[in-house]
Amino acid sequence: MNANAATPRVALVTGTSSGIGEAVVRHFCELGHQVLAVDFNPAGEEVAERAGAAFHQADLTDGDACRAAVQDAIRRFGRLDILVNNAGIQHVSPIETFPEEKWRHIIDLMLTAPFLLTQAAWPSMRENGWGRIVNIASVHAQVASPGKAAYVSAKHGMIGLTRTAALEGGEQGITANALCPAYVKTPLVDNQIADQARMHGMEEQEVIEQVMLKNAAVKRLIDPDEVASLVGYLASDAAGAVTGASWNIDLGWTAQ
Ligand code: NAD
Repeated sequence: MNANAATPRVALVTGTSSGIGEAVVRHFCELGHQVLAVDFNPAGEEVAERAGAAFHQADLTDGDACRAAVQDAIRRFGRLDILVNNAGIQHVSPIETFPEEKWRHIIDLMLTAPFLLTQAAWPSMRENGWGRIVNIASVHAQVASPGKAAYVSAKHGMIGLTRTAALEGGEQGITANALCPAYVKTPLVDNQIADQARMHGMEEQEVIEQVMLKNAAVKRLIDPDEVASLVGYLASDAAGAVTGASWNIDLGWTAQ
């Protein structure tokens, strides 16, 4: 066996039909992990198959669907070692006109679902004395931007969930960490470029240069594979001493 190879683990990754989740599934499969990819978009099935992962279709705004996804991973693979909470959406609008249903949808998907998935995964991790929870937060877990009240609130909340899970998991072999990326080149960002262009009355290229990369020291969007590599590390044996941390991968955005 390759001395650098990862110990094969069972992983559940959410939000896997595109972007960061797709890259994480691919990376985990390359590391030899058994992966259940969970997404509400049926297109995720083909994406998962291509990577060598199993697929479970679920709308994670539904609590029972969160629990069923974890049970499916345990039924297929016998246990669950790694949980990556990644599924997310964005809605950009000022607080004054922010629709209540969008607020609830974002909090349900991006804060309540990670809590319920963590809760459902916990017994299997505890029984095996080994678990890794990796929460894909955002630079918007550290700072705010106008127009993103629900997203910023959900991501700040995710840091609180991560820290609490780290404290509760410390004696049980379970670590929990959050990743805080700035803009990653994914469909979620492509949609935002159009939304923000409308909101600021700008051309799309101006939005990228003057809004998205305004605070970045490195003036480019992040590649999803760059995020996946860091997830791979945080989910590894080597990261056993790392817990309760928020890892910025933000092009230097929060360095100032
Ligand atoms: P993406 O749109 O490519 O992927 C999001 C995934 O979530 C999709 O596969 C989508 O089908 C899935 N999803 C949406 N609603 C769902 C639901 N109700 N149930 C199950 N799955 C659902 O976006 P991405 O950029 O890869 O985002 C992934 C995560 O990374 C999100 O949590 C996002 O907030 C975070 N993030 C992204 C960026 C960025 O710039 N792209 C930056 C920081 C953090």
